[in-house]
This record gives sequence, structure tokens and C-alpha cells, in this order.
Amino acid sequence: MTKLNLIAGEWLAGESEIENLNPSDVTDLVGIFAQASHSQLQATLAKARSAQAEWANFGLERKQAVLMNIGNELMSRAEELGRLLSREEGKPLVEGKGEIYRAGQFFTYYAAECLRQIGENADSVRDGVEIDVRREPVGVVAIISPWNFPTATASWKIAPALCYGNAVVWKPANSTPASAVALTEIIERQDIPTGLFSLVMGSGSSIGQRLVESPIVNAISFTGSVPVGKGIAAAAIENLTKVQMEMGSKNALAVMDDADLDLAVTLALGGAFGGTGQKCTASSRLIVHDFVHDAFVEKLVAGAKAIKVGHALHDDIQMGPVVSNEQLQENLAYVDLGKSEGAELACGGARLEMPHEGFYMSPGIFVNSGNEMRINREEMFAPLASVIRVGSYDEALAVVNDTNFGLTSGIVTQSLARSTHFRRNARTGVVTVNLPTAGTDYHVPFGGRGDSSYGPREQGKAAAEFYTTVKTAYISAGAPK
Ligand code: NAP
Ligand code: MG
Repeated sequence: MTKLNLIAGEWLAGESEIENLNPSDVTDLVGIFAQASHSQLQATLAKARSAQAEWANFGLERKQAVLMNIGNELMSRAEELGRLLSREEGKPLVEGKGEIYRAGQFFTYYAAECLRQIGENADSVRDGVEIDVRREPVGVVAIISPWNFPTATASWKIAPALCYGNAVVWKPANSTPASAVALTEIIERQDIPTGLFSLVMGSGSSIGQRLVESPIVNAISFTGSVPVGKGIAAAAIENLTKVQMEMGSKNALAVMDDADLDLAVTLALGGAFGGTGQKCTASSRLIVHDFVHDAFVEKLVAGAKAIKVGHALHDDIQMGPVVSNEQLQENLAYVDLGKSEGAELACGGARLEMPHEGFYMSPGIFVNSGNEMRINREEMFAPLASVIRVGSYDEALAVVNDTNFGLTSGIVTQSLARSTHFRRNARTGVVTVNLPTAGTDYHVPFGGRGDSSYGPREQGKAAAEFYTTVKTAYISAGAPK
């Protein structure tokens, strides 16, 4: 049965449908999903505006309870919903379950934040006048999310949007609609005004584009690629719509001559191949000090070769397929490009045949690569990493910072002086020391610099900046009579 969109509070069939196939086994049809029409989008946007006004007047405990219920349900159903997520996206079951649980934690965190919305007050510079400064909802928020963390990314946007009193119109990635419907079903059952939350599945270029062009939308939160982000920013500026964007990156892990090599290899493998390398925080550039280079590469290649690739829902695997055939072809083209640029493929990077037809490739490692090569400048979003050899800490830092992106970076070292210098001088929004470049917490800001991010930070208390607007009230009460 076709899964429907949530339009102005009603589950409705669309103007067309898409099939969603399991990338681990394309004979497994995950489901059929409605594609919203432009008129449905307009109807749901109009309803969102009035529902938002109602929701903003709900008491804080009522809002808190809604968020708490959503979070608790996600966490308690992590096994079931994680399986669905892994089935449609292709990440190993353990990662799928972990993602759903984490998504739940975003909701419970923002449930608590509901009660912590406290403004400021001040005396005026004028006699007898008081000032009250408070944050109000920004209004109707458009959320556009990617397929690689379909539930977590959407949740770290939806939870603060609702917490701070906004309506949400959500356009999830068409590659992962099943996770989107599952989350929407949970949200729709809560004590919220009809039409406060909408699901508009459809292609980005059609329904997504219309959504970001709408003058009814007050704010757009987007996670995806740089070219799409630039187009969204251009559309947003037409209506002076507030915009927040998290985009790609080319994250570097610097391995120093004093590093614990086993730790460094574990961090590099997890950072490069977790989520099949399809993470905006993936360690795709491994910048390694000459002194440990050969020993590191030997262990790294052995580790990559030992990674068991297979069906995402099978217990004994460590890496699933890539998300689609299109992605697989792009990845294989990058492998050819890397070789033609003069990098040496030390292992992997090839299509894998399995008993079931899916989009499998082996984790690939380039060595003898230069930071100027396209494989080290463009986000591949693939299970591919390149080793770049450097002669000193200073050179490592320079290479880390020589990129158009700036989401995360990490250093593996036992030196306090170097790690401190790195923390202060790496030009990324997130820096890690003796930890992977991927994997962040929910109660602190997340975002990057350069082409990686635009607009206010996401997550933690920082999210309030985007999902609210500040009002400054001046009050002259006069003398009591
Ligand atoms: P994408 O192609 O940019 O798509 C992201 C979302 O935007 C999808 O929902 C897509 O819809 C939609 N979209 C496409 N064109 C649109 C348009 N003209 N107007 C409005 N919406 C539009 O990215 P992706 O391939 O899904 O995801 C991979 C990218 O996301 C990578 O570059 C990765 O680095 C980035 N990412 C960044 C972060 C971060 O926090 N920095 C996190 C995760 C992923 P359809 O796909 O359904 O057409
Ligand atoms: Mg896409």
C-alpha cells in the first residue's frame, strides 16, 4: 500500500508515486511513496501558518510533553525503526538503531529546553520605562534533509523547531522516505494542532524548490550538498527568508609522529568507512607524518581489507552498500580519477558481487596522494580515503586547512602543546583530539566554516538563534493610581 503525505493534517495520496528499493538487495521493495503536488504544498503551507499561531500559545509543559513522547517512542522503537532505516539506507543495523536512538535523544533534550526559555529584562535609559527581551517563534519552518542520516538530521531540526513554537513543513530525501513516514506517524499522533507538522515527499528539484521559494516560509533549514545549498540560498534571498545550511566537507585526520598508531588506525577506519563513508563528517583525508607513515599505512590497509562488507541487515557485517547505483557509479568514477591523477590505490575501491544484487563496493584507500588532487578537494561521499604524507606538524596543519570546506578535523597526538595549537588553529567548526572526526553530541553546537555551513549553528542551545526571533518590548506603566 502506498505511504502517504501529511497535508494540512490529512494523509493524502500524491500526484505520482515512487518505489523505494533496498540498496542491499534490489529485489526487496521497501515500499511505494506518494509524491506531493504543488497544490498540496500550498494547502499545507496555508494551514501551517494558522496551526503555528495556536501551537505558540500552548503552555510549555504541553509542548514539553509532545517532544518527550516523540523522543521516548523513538528510543523504545529503536530496534524496529533502525531496521527500517538500515533496510532503505544501507547502513549496518547497529548504526541504524543507534541513529534512531540518537534521534530520540534530540527530542528529549529539546523537551527539557522547552522549560528553559527565559528572556532578559532591563531598565530603560529613560525614566519609568522597563524593557522585556524575549524570543518568539520564527513561524513556518521548511526542513529539507538528506538521506545519509534520514532520521537524525531531520530530528535535530524538527525538535528545536517545535520546541521554540514553530510549524514544520518537512521535505525528506526521496531516497529514504520510509524513515520519514515512520517519524511523521509518531509526530502526527501527538497533542498538536492540526496541520502544525506536514510531510511533503517529492523530488528536491520539484517540491523542494517550490517549498524554498514560498513566501509563507519564514525559515529554511537545509542539510545536503553545496550546489543545492547555493540554489536554496538564492531562492531564500528573494523573500528574505532566514536560512541555515549544513553542507559537505573534506574532513582531515592528522596523524602525528607521536600518535598511538593502533588508536590512529581505529579512528581513521571508523571515520572513513562508518556509514559506508557517506557522512558529512567522514575522515576522507588522512594526513600522516612521514615518521609513522609506512607503519600507519600498513595497518590501515590491513584494517580496510578486513572490513566485512555485506547486506545491511545481516549481523556479521561492518559496512553496507552505498545508497544507490548512481552513487556507486560516481564513486567508481572517483577511483578512476584518483588513479589518473597519480594517486596509488592501495586496496579496495572496486565493485563487489554478492549473492543478492546491491550497490556494494570495497573500502578503498589511496596512498601517495597530493592535497591538490580532485580526490582530496571534492567531497566524494564514498567509502574512499586518501593518505597524504607530510613532514611536520606545521605542514599537517597547513594541509588540514587547505580546503574550501571546514566542518570537522582531528589530530592524533600525545602532545598537549600540539593538540592545543591544533584546536586553536584548525579552521573547522568541530575539532577533535584523539577521537574520530565523525560523531558529535546533541547538547552543543554543530556546524562548520567555509563551504560547509551557512547561517546559525544547529543543535544545543545554539539552535534557538535560528528557530526564534528576538522581540524587545518597552513598557511605561505610569504611576499607580
Ligand atoms: P542533496 O542532493 O543536496 O539533497 C539534500 C536534500 O535537498 C534532499 O532532500 C533533496 O531532495 C533536496 N533537494 C535537492 N534539490 C533541491 C532543490 N532544488 N530545492 C530544494 N531541495 C532540494 O544531498 P544528498 O545527496 O541528499 O546528501 C548528500 C549531501 O549532504 C552530501 O554532500 C553531504 O555532505 C551532505 N550532508 C551534510 C551534513 C552536514 O550536517 N553538514 C549532514 C549530512 C549530509 P531529493 O534528494 O529527494 O531530490
Ligand atoms: Mg541527491
